[in-house]
Parts: sequence; structure tokens; C-alpha cells
Amino acid sequence: MNPLFADQPTSIFERMSALARDGGAVNLGQGFPDFGWPEDVVVRAASALTGAASQYPPMRGLNELREAVAAHYRRHHRLDIAADHVTITSGATEALASSLLALIEPGDEVVLFQPLYDAYLPLVLRAGGVPRLVRLTPPGWRITAEALAEAFTDRTRLVLFNNPHNPTSRMFDAGELALLAAACVKSGAIALSDEVWEHVTFDDRRHIPLASLAGMAERTVKVGSAGKIFSLTGWKIGFVCAAPPLLRVAAKVHQFLTFTTAPNLQVAVAYGLGKPADYFLDMRKELARSRDRLTAGLERIGFPVLKSQGTYFLTVDLSPLGLNETDVAFCQRIVNDYKVAAIPVSAFYEQDAVTSVVRFCFSKKDATLDTALERLSDAVHRRKR
Ligand code: PMP
Ligand code: GLN
Repeated sequence: MNPLFADQPTSIFERMSALARDGGAVNLGQGFPDFGWPEDVVVRAASALTGAASQYPPMRGLNELREAVAAHYRRHHRLDIAADHVTITSGATEALASSLLALIEPGDEVVLFQPLYDAYLPLVLRAGGVPRLVRLTPPGWRITAEALAEAFTDRTRLVLFNNPHNPTSRMFDAGELALLAAACVKSGAIALSDEVWEHVTFDDRRHIPLASLAGMAERTVKVGSAGKIFSLTGWKIGFVCAAPPLLRVAAKVHQFLTFTTAPNLQVAVAYGLGKPADYFLDMRKELARSRDRLTAGLERIGFPVLKSQGTYFLTVDLSPLGLNETDVAFCQRIVNDYKVAAIPVSAFYEQDAVTSVVRFCFSKKDATLDTALERLSDAVHRRKR
């Protein structure tokens, strides 16, 4: 085994979910909803399964799904793309793995932003990439021109970007996106843009696809996931969208990594992507309501919440509380003593970790959130005494 991986524990999500299961804790760690998926999409998958859709679909995905993805992005995000810009993968994770393995040569520099989603660094290292880390910090988590100037060099091959951002729940603004696009164009880098949370945005904020910025359409590989769009995280239907010459390269690895993905789920996702705009609006409204419920409850207890702009997550900055414990110690304490699981954000840093921020998942029934809040009700005050 490659020594890079021999000593690695399982991911923070797996570890916290196992602790929650074993200890009977409310799991606000790993991001998955316990409500809210569209019944009609699930019924469509079931009827496709008992119908004909059980043999290998084409390597690039079912035509009806590739057409539906292109039409969806034309309609919702005004991207000028067609079916020949789309390949269907086994989740966004495989889309990222295929793209990285296809686009990086050993020794190529890859710009990444900390805190970073757990799969990014292992995949970049496995592909032989040399990471150049930009460190974002609370409460603003902003991308600056100075940080980009330091990270991009004439050896930069690719930037791996995530917006809306997990775990900070930030949506990078037009100014930050313009800085990033300018850095990519100047250095000739490809942008691998993980936009799986593109529909999970709040307070009338609109997602801006990186590919829509000047000079970016031909150099951006955009990654999406039906798991997030339809609150069905176990389905693992991902989309890679890129200009055909770039897409052909990324699809070469997909061909030998997974080759294809479950056809009945592809049929159902193609159906779901054509749902009326109201479905997407209602989904956002419901999730924003859950965000507000958890935010208000945590604030009542005394936790300083950094308001979430998108994703299933909000974060709490423990530093003003003077609890004298790290995010990891805090998460251990609340899962043991209060039976509530959360995720320490330091797990998303490779270097110079911020150790005061904790991520909570709010895509849950009111009853689940209320149970967690009740259990945490004296978690601030008891520790302070
Ligand atoms: N990227 C980000 C930023 C994510 O948050 C997630 C899952 N939460 C993924 C990728 C993985 O998506 P999938 O389950 O479709 O592989
Ligand atoms: N993306 C999910 C999260 O951020 C976790 C997925 C996983 O466990 N790998 O919570």
C-alpha cells in the first residue's frame, strides 16, 4: 500500500457517524437529510428498476439524462451547454477522482482552499499533484488577491474549487470569483469546480457557476450531484460538465474507473431535473427554515453561530466563549456527554488548522433538531462554571 494512505483513519464523517450510532446520539455530523426527498423521483426509480433499466447504460451516461442535465443548467444557471458537454458518473466523488486522475501529471501544482472537503487532498496526492494550499479563516472565510498571487505559479495546472462551500457554508461573491477566474486565465490553469451545493442556497442568493465568468467556459470542469439536488445522498449520480475537448480527457478515466452507473437512478434523475421551478424553491425554503430553527436554538443556548448562506450546514465559532477546548475536544464532549454528534472543522485543514469552529448539519426534521437542542441546553454554561 502507498505509505501515504497506510496510516490514514477513515474519514471524519464515518468516525462521527459510528460514534453517533454506537452511543445513541442525534447525528448532526455527516450531511444527509432525514426528511425532504421528492417521492415522485423515488417512485420513478422504482418503476424503472422493475421495468427495463438494469443493463449497462452507455459509458457517458443515458442520453436522456445527459440532455436533461444540459437543459437543467441552461434553464437554471444560464449555461450555454448541450448533451455533448456532459458525462454521468457515480457521484461527485467519482467525477472529482476521474477529472483529477485525467488532468494532472505527476509534479503539476494544484491550488486548493482550506478548509477542504475530505476527498480532495488524497485524490490530488494520488494523482501525483503538488498541493498549493490557500488558507481561509473565520468569520469571513474570504479569498483575497494576495492569497491567490502567492498560490498560483507558472507550474499551476489546476485549481480545485468548491462553491457553495462545505464546510464553511459560504457562497463566494462575484468579486472573489472574478479574482479566481483572472488567476486561472493568467496562469493557463484548469478549474475543477465542485458545485454540488448549487441548488442549496438561501436568502435569494443565486449560485454563479464558475464557467459563466469571462474566459472560463473552455477551462472549467464543473461537477454536480443529484444527491444534493434531490436530498438523496446515497444515490451517487454525479455530473461532469465541460467543453468537449476537456470532457473527452476526463471521461477517459471514468471509462476504466467505474465505466457507468445505475441506469434506473439515471432515468429517475433525468425526470427530476425537469421538475418545475417550484420544487427547487420549496426545497430551499424548507431547508432555510431548518437552518433558522437550529440557528435560533443554538443562539438561545449561547453558541455564536456564523450564519449559513448555503449547503446543509452551519458553523459555530467557539472562540468567544472562553471554553478552553479545541473543536475536536468539544465534539468529543458533546457526543459523549450530550449525545449529539457534530464535525470539528479542523479536520478539513492539512496545515495550520483553525481549531475553534464546529459544523452542524440542519437538514433534519424539526423533532430531530429540537431533540439535539434540548440535549445541548446547558453545554455552554455547565462547562463555564
Ligand atoms: N463535494 C462536496 C463539497 C460535498 O459536500 C460532497 C458530499 N457532501 C461531495 C463532493 C460528494 O458528493 P457525492 O455524494 O455525489 O459523491
Ligand atoms: N459530504 C458529506 C458531508 O460533508 C459526507 C460524505 C461522506 O461521508 N464522505 O457531511
